[in-house]
Amino acid sequence: MNNQESSHRKIIPIVPQETDEVMVSLYASHEKIYPRSVSGFFSNWRWGMVVLTQLVFYGLPWLEWGQRQAVLFDLGSRRFYIFGLVLYPQDFIYLTGILVISALSLFLFTAVAGRLWCGYACPQTVYTEIFLWIEKKVEGDRSARMRRDAKPMSADKLTRKALKHFLWISLALWTGFTFVGYFTPIKDLGLEFLQMSMSSWEVFWTFFYGFATYGNAGFMREQVCKHMCPYARFQSAMFDKDTLIVTYDAERGEPRGARSRKADPASLNLGACVDCSLCVQVCPTGIDIRKGLQYECIGCGACADVCDTVMDKMGYARGLVKYTTENAMSQHWSRAQTWRHVLRPRVLIYTAILGVIVIAMLVSLSLRVPFKVDVVRDRGVMARIVPGGKIENVYRLQVMNATESNQRYKIAVTGLPGLVVASDSLVMVESTQSRWVAVRVQAPFDTAAPGSHTIQFQIDSVDSPGHLTEKSAFLIPR
Ligand code: SF4
Ligand code: SF4
Repeated sequence: MNNQESSHRKIIPIVPQETDEVMVSLYASHEKIYPRSVSGFFSNWRWGMVVLTQLVFYGLPWLEWGQRQAVLFDLGSRRFYIFGLVLYPQDFIYLTGILVISALSLFLFTAVAGRLWCGYACPQTVYTEIFLWIEKKVEGDRSARMRRDAKPMSADKLTRKALKHFLWISLALWTGFTFVGYFTPIKDLGLEFLQMSMSSWEVFWTFFYGFATYGNAGFMREQVCKHMCPYARFQSAMFDKDTLIVTYDAERGEPRGARSRKADPASLNLGACVDCSLCVQVCPTGIDIRKGLQYECIGCGACADVCDTVMDKMGYARGLVKYTTENAMSQHWSRAQTWRHVLRPRVLIYTAILGVIVIAMLVSLSLRVPFKVDVVRDRGVMARIVPGGKIENVYRLQVMNATESNQRYKIAVTGLPGLVVASDSLVMVESTQSRWVAVRVQAPFDTAAPGSHTIQFQIDSVDSPGHLTEKSAFLIPR
């Protein structure tokens, strides 16, 4: 480019354009939610689940079964006691079965009614509900709490806050203690607590679990559901247009607006929503269901309950906010039609698979042989020739008695002609204990060609029905 060209060049000034852009901070400080208490059909269900789950959780470790705790996961001795069952690490398959059943149940419930687990049975919901109940008893309902929090500190405020935290911490520590009571006999743990002799691990887990309960239910609350729970992230993948979800009937509710109870909404060109905002005030995650389905919604139905009370007061039909499906809303289905579509092939397939796995697990548990045997060849002793010209191999057998009474077991061996157990073939194992025994097995010198031969140990329980076969190898030297 020469100088002449550059002197004729038009200079276009760069002027910043006006845009609609606004600066959005990626950090939004957390606004405390004060959920208003609510009563109604779904609230009763939620409280029913709170009572049921907590009766089970707090009560189970105190139940006795014979001479021991009914449910105890004794990690030290690697035995799980569940009522009449004694499970060993070798019974890991049942734990896998329970996990598969839990996962499939979650898929099933989510396909039927969205976040049913979150709204009614998740520990986060359950403990938040209990902590909120304590908060309400000590500090009053929503408006009283909001007013008090806005005021400067006073003797009344300090006393109520201190009492609330004392009750929260007590409950949280009791929860931690109960949790540890599933792994250590809870009565012994109570005694250790009174004598201040709990082990460091027991103290750690009591405080850790208690602290997690206090923090999650007292402070984190909806933040756990919104930002920490992985289920909240992927549950929408299990929804479809026939999943029951809490929905605002916008067609019926809009245009929303305040009016007197006697006014005719049609003449005012208003829908059924009186815009009272109660559905927002009761929401534990602080969302407005009228904006449509949002990932924060845990499907608790509190907004449906409170809206029904508003509809009752106004003399309108209930169900402006209700559990329904996307298809039912768009196609104006009746309740019966909606349910017919809810029970769709996907739901029936999940139910069938779940049923098969549950039955298989129950059958397997009922047919379970109440003892286990592990066979290990004694590597220290090679095959040898003993007096009488017989060949002898030595094995170590671990016999585990999964019953709660002493048992005798008879050991025999098959697989080669003339194969016999040359040591004591009767073994006694104490209740729920395991025992290693050395077993000498002999065979005639010319029973088979030199090399390794598969043999079977046949173990019979003498005092109760049960038979096991375990394979091993019998070596014949050259
Ligand atoms: S509670 Fe019902 S009537 Fe009140 S604002 Fe919510 S949807 Fe509208
Ligand atoms: S929107 Fe309704 S159902 Fe969803 S979390 Fe809030 S109160 Fe519960």
